[in-house]
Amino acid sequence: MSREFGLLKEIDINQEQTWLNKLFITLDIDWAHDEVIEYVADKLIAQQTKATWFVTHPTPMLEKLNSCPLFELGIHPNFNKLLQSNTEKGATISEVLDNLLTLVDAPLSFRSHSITQSTEIINAAYGKGMKYESNTFIPIVSNIEVRPYQHTSGMIQLPYVWEDDVHFLNDWNYEDMYQKVINQHGLVIIDFHPIHIFLNTEHNDRYEACRGYYQDVHILNSKRNLGVGTSTIFERFINLEKKKA
Ligand SMILES: [Zn+2]
Repeated sequence: MSREFGLLKEIDINQEQTWLNKLFITLDIDWAHDEVIEYVADKLIAQQTKATWFVTHPTPMLEKLNSCPLFELGIHPNFNKLLQSNTEKGATISEVLDNLLTLVDAPLSFRSHSITQSTEIINAAYGKGMKYESNTFIPIVSNIEVRPYQHTSGMIQLPYVWEDDVHFLNDWNYEDMYQKVINQHGLVIIDFHPIHIFLNTEHNDRYEACRGYYQDVHILNSKRNLGVGTSTIFERFINLEKKKA
Protein backbone atom coordinates (compact mmCIF):
# COMPACT_ATOMS: atom_id res chain seq x y z
CA MET A 1 0.00 0.00 0.00
CA SER A 2 1.29 3.42 -0.90
CA ARG A 3 -0.22 6.86 -0.87
CA GLU A 4 0.63 10.24 -2.19
CA PHE A 5 0.65 12.78 0.65
CA GLY A 6 -0.59 16.33 0.19
CA LEU A 7 -1.01 19.75 1.75
CA LEU A 8 -4.42 21.42 1.91
CA LYS A 9 -3.13 24.47 0.02
CA GLU A 10 -2.26 22.25 -2.97
CA ILE A 11 -5.91 21.31 -3.56
CA ASP A 12 -7.61 22.59 -6.72
CA ILE A 13 -11.25 21.52 -6.83
CA ASN A 14 -11.18 21.65 -10.62
CA GLN A 15 -8.27 19.22 -10.76
CA GLU A 16 -9.16 15.93 -9.14
CA GLN A 17 -5.60 14.66 -9.24
CA THR A 18 -4.65 17.32 -6.65
CA TRP A 19 -6.65 15.49 -3.94
CA LEU A 20 -8.22 12.22 -5.08
CA ASN A 21 -7.06 9.27 -2.95
CA LYS A 22 -4.18 11.24 -1.45
CA LEU A 23 -3.63 11.34 2.31
CA PHE A 24 -3.62 14.71 4.06
CA ILE A 25 -2.22 14.83 7.60
CA THR A 26 -3.32 17.86 9.61
CA LEU A 27 -2.24 18.85 13.12
CA ASP A 28 -4.16 21.12 15.50
CA ILE A 29 -1.32 22.48 17.66
CA ASP A 30 -3.67 23.39 20.54
CA TRP A 31 -1.04 25.35 22.54
CA ALA A 32 1.30 22.35 22.84
CA HIS A 33 4.71 22.72 24.52
CA ASP A 34 7.64 23.48 22.18
CA GLU A 35 9.25 20.08 22.81
CA VAL A 36 5.97 18.33 22.04
CA ILE A 37 5.69 20.21 18.74
CA GLU A 38 9.33 19.49 17.90
CA TYR A 39 8.94 15.80 18.70
CA VAL A 40 6.17 15.51 16.11
CA ALA A 41 7.91 17.73 13.54
CA ASP A 42 11.10 15.64 13.76
CA LYS A 43 9.15 12.43 13.16
CA LEU A 44 7.49 13.88 10.06
CA ILE A 45 10.79 15.23 8.74
CA ALA A 46 12.55 11.89 9.33
CA GLN A 47 9.94 10.16 7.16
CA GLN A 48 9.74 13.03 4.66
CA THR A 49 5.99 13.26 5.29
CA LYS A 50 3.98 16.34 4.36
CA ALA A 51 1.62 17.86 6.94
CA THR A 52 -0.55 20.94 7.41
CA TRP A 53 -0.15 22.51 10.87
CA PHE A 54 -2.86 24.70 12.39
CA VAL A 55 -1.08 27.25 14.58
CA THR A 56 -2.51 28.46 17.91
CA HIS A 57 0.17 30.56 19.59
CA PRO A 58 3.60 32.19 19.27
CA THR A 59 6.45 29.68 19.68
CA PRO A 60 10.06 29.52 18.46
CA MET A 61 8.97 26.30 16.72
CA LEU A 62 7.13 28.33 14.07
CA GLU A 63 10.44 29.22 12.48
CA LYS A 64 11.41 25.56 12.23
CA LEU A 65 8.01 24.53 10.84
CA ASN A 66 7.96 27.44 8.42
CA SER A 67 11.38 26.66 7.02
CA CYS A 68 10.50 23.06 6.16
CA PRO A 69 9.09 22.60 2.63
CA LEU A 70 7.16 19.51 3.81
CA PHE A 71 4.93 21.69 5.94
CA GLU A 72 2.08 24.12 5.38
CA LEU A 73 1.21 26.52 8.20
CA GLY A 74 -2.46 27.34 8.59
CA ILE A 75 -4.19 28.85 11.62
CA HIS A 76 -6.39 27.42 14.40
CA PRO A 77 -8.48 30.33 15.69
CA ASN A 78 -10.25 29.86 19.02
CA PHE A 79 -13.70 31.45 18.88
CA ASN A 80 -14.88 29.65 22.04
CA LYS A 81 -13.72 32.58 24.17
CA LEU A 82 -15.81 35.00 22.13
CA LEU A 83 -18.85 32.76 22.59
CA GLN A 84 -18.20 33.00 26.34
CA SER A 85 -17.89 36.82 26.16
CA ASN A 86 -14.17 36.43 26.91
CA THR A 87 -12.04 38.73 24.74
CA GLU A 88 -8.69 37.10 25.63
CA LYS A 89 -8.18 35.87 22.02
CA GLY A 90 -9.68 39.03 20.45
CA ALA A 91 -12.87 41.07 20.84
CA THR A 92 -14.30 40.20 17.42
CA ILE A 93 -14.04 37.41 14.83
CA SER A 94 -11.74 39.68 12.85
CA GLU A 95 -9.46 40.30 15.84
CA VAL A 96 -9.20 36.59 16.71
CA LEU A 97 -8.05 35.99 13.13
CA ASP A 98 -5.75 39.02 13.04
CA ASN A 99 -3.96 37.89 16.20
CA LEU A 100 -2.98 34.64 14.44
CA LEU A 101 -2.16 36.43 11.20
CA THR A 102 0.65 38.16 13.08
CA LEU A 103 2.17 34.67 13.66
CA VAL A 104 1.70 33.04 10.27
CA ASP A 105 2.40 34.96 7.09
CA ALA A 106 -0.54 34.83 4.65
CA PRO A 107 -1.97 31.44 5.68
CA LEU A 108 -4.29 29.81 3.14
CA SER A 109 -5.89 27.19 5.39
CA PHE A 110 -7.66 27.19 8.73
CA ARG A 111 -9.57 25.01 11.13
CA SER A 112 -11.24 26.54 14.20
CA HIS A 113 -10.57 25.12 17.65
CA SER A 114 -13.70 23.03 18.44
CA ILE A 115 -14.41 23.37 14.68
CA THR A 116 -16.55 26.46 15.31
CA GLN A 117 -18.05 27.60 12.02
CA SER A 118 -20.37 30.33 10.84
CA THR A 119 -21.02 32.39 7.74
CA GLU A 120 -19.39 35.37 9.46
CA ILE A 121 -16.24 33.40 10.23
CA ILE A 122 -16.02 32.11 6.64
CA ASN A 123 -16.53 35.59 5.19
CA ALA A 124 -13.99 37.17 7.55
CA ALA A 125 -11.38 34.47 6.87
CA TYR A 126 -11.96 34.63 3.12
CA GLY A 127 -11.70 38.42 3.25
CA LYS A 128 -8.29 38.04 4.89
CA GLY A 129 -7.01 35.85 2.07
CA MET A 130 -7.73 32.36 3.35
CA LYS A 131 -8.92 29.88 0.73
CA TYR A 132 -9.41 26.58 2.56
CA GLU A 133 -11.54 25.72 5.60
CA SER A 134 -11.42 22.29 7.24
CA ASN A 135 -14.15 22.65 9.87
CA THR A 136 -16.50 19.82 8.97
CA PHE A 137 -15.92 16.43 10.52
CA ILE A 138 -17.53 13.53 8.64
CA PRO A 139 -16.50 10.40 10.57
CA ILE A 140 -15.03 7.71 8.36
CA VAL A 141 -17.36 5.18 10.00
CA SER A 142 -20.28 6.91 8.25
CA ASN A 143 -18.91 5.41 4.99
CA ILE A 144 -19.41 8.67 3.15
CA GLU A 145 -16.93 9.37 0.37
CA VAL A 146 -15.87 12.98 0.81
CA ARG A 147 -14.85 15.53 -1.80
CA PRO A 148 -13.88 19.21 -1.65
CA TYR A 149 -16.58 21.74 -2.49
CA GLN A 150 -16.87 25.48 -2.75
CA HIS A 151 -18.88 27.62 -0.33
CA THR A 152 -20.76 30.55 -1.92
CA SER A 153 -18.17 32.91 -0.42
CA GLY A 154 -15.52 31.21 -2.57
CA MET A 155 -13.98 29.34 0.37
CA ILE A 156 -13.01 25.75 -0.47
CA GLN A 157 -14.49 23.39 2.10
CA LEU A 158 -12.35 20.40 3.04
CA PRO A 159 -14.14 17.97 5.38
CA TYR A 160 -11.94 15.62 7.40
CA VAL A 161 -12.74 12.03 8.25
CA TRP A 162 -10.67 10.90 11.25
CA GLU A 163 -9.41 12.57 14.43
CA ASP A 164 -7.19 11.12 17.18
CA ASP A 165 -9.34 12.10 20.18
CA VAL A 166 -12.60 11.07 18.52
CA HIS A 167 -10.90 7.72 17.95
CA PHE A 168 -10.05 7.05 21.59
CA LEU A 169 -13.30 8.56 22.90
CA ASN A 170 -15.11 5.97 20.77
CA ASP A 171 -12.68 3.22 21.75
CA TRP A 172 -12.14 2.25 18.13
CA ASN A 173 -9.50 -0.33 17.23
CA TYR A 174 -6.26 1.23 15.90
CA GLU A 175 -5.46 -1.44 13.35
CA ASP A 176 -9.04 -1.50 11.99
CA MET A 177 -9.05 2.26 11.69
CA TYR A 178 -5.63 2.37 10.03
CA GLN A 179 -6.89 -0.07 7.39
CA LYS A 180 -10.11 1.90 6.96
CA VAL A 181 -8.25 5.18 6.40
CA ILE A 182 -5.71 3.80 3.93
CA ASN A 183 -8.48 2.13 1.95
CA GLN A 184 -10.75 5.20 1.99
CA HIS A 185 -11.45 6.79 -1.40
CA GLY A 186 -12.04 10.42 -2.26
CA LEU A 187 -10.73 13.25 -0.07
CA VAL A 188 -8.94 11.77 2.95
CA ILE A 189 -7.92 14.32 5.59
CA ILE A 190 -6.99 13.12 9.07
CA ASP A 191 -6.37 15.17 12.19
CA PHE A 192 -3.86 14.73 15.01
CA HIS A 193 -2.99 16.76 18.10
CA PRO A 194 0.74 16.85 19.00
CA ILE A 195 -0.02 16.18 22.68
CA HIS A 196 -1.76 12.89 21.82
CA ILE A 197 1.15 11.77 19.63
CA PHE A 198 3.58 12.67 22.43
CA LEU A 199 1.56 10.91 25.14
CA ASN A 200 0.57 8.13 22.73
CA THR A 201 -2.92 8.67 24.18
CA GLU A 202 -5.20 5.63 24.00
CA HIS A 203 -7.83 6.74 26.52
CA ASN A 204 -9.15 10.12 27.65
CA ASP A 205 -8.17 9.31 31.27
CA ARG A 206 -4.48 9.53 30.29
CA TYR A 207 -4.98 12.98 28.80
CA GLU A 208 -7.05 14.14 31.79
CA ALA A 209 -4.42 12.83 34.23
CA CYS A 210 -2.00 15.36 32.69
CA ARG A 211 -4.35 18.32 33.15
CA GLY A 212 -2.36 21.18 34.68
CA TYR A 213 0.91 19.66 33.39
CA TYR A 214 0.60 20.12 29.63
CA GLN A 215 3.54 22.53 29.75
CA ASP A 216 5.71 20.22 31.90
CA VAL A 217 7.54 17.90 29.52
CA HIS A 218 9.10 15.84 32.36
CA ILE A 219 5.70 14.96 33.74
CA LEU A 220 4.29 14.35 30.24
CA ASN A 221 7.22 12.02 29.57
CA SER A 222 6.44 10.01 32.69
CA LYS A 223 2.78 9.70 31.68
CA ARG A 224 3.35 8.27 28.20
CA ASN A 225 1.44 5.20 27.10
CA LEU A 226 3.89 2.42 26.24
CA GLY A 227 1.28 0.29 24.47
CA VAL A 228 -0.83 0.89 21.38
CA GLY A 229 -2.20 4.40 21.00
CA THR A 230 -2.29 7.59 18.95
CA SER A 231 1.44 7.47 18.24
CA THR A 232 1.14 3.89 16.95
CA ILE A 233 -1.32 4.86 14.21
CA PHE A 234 0.57 8.11 13.50
CA GLU A 235 3.77 6.12 12.91
CA ARG A 236 1.91 3.73 10.61
CA PHE A 237 0.68 6.64 8.48
CA ILE A 238 3.99 8.48 8.26
CA ASN A 239 5.81 5.27 7.40
CA LEU A 240 3.52 4.59 4.43
CA GLU A 241 5.39 4.38 1.18
CA LYS A 242 5.20 7.80 -0.48
CA LYS A 243 3.83 7.62 -3.98
CA LYS A 244 5.22 10.35 -6.22
CA ALA A 245 2.89 12.65 -8.14
ZN1 LIG B 1 -8.13 22.65 18.67
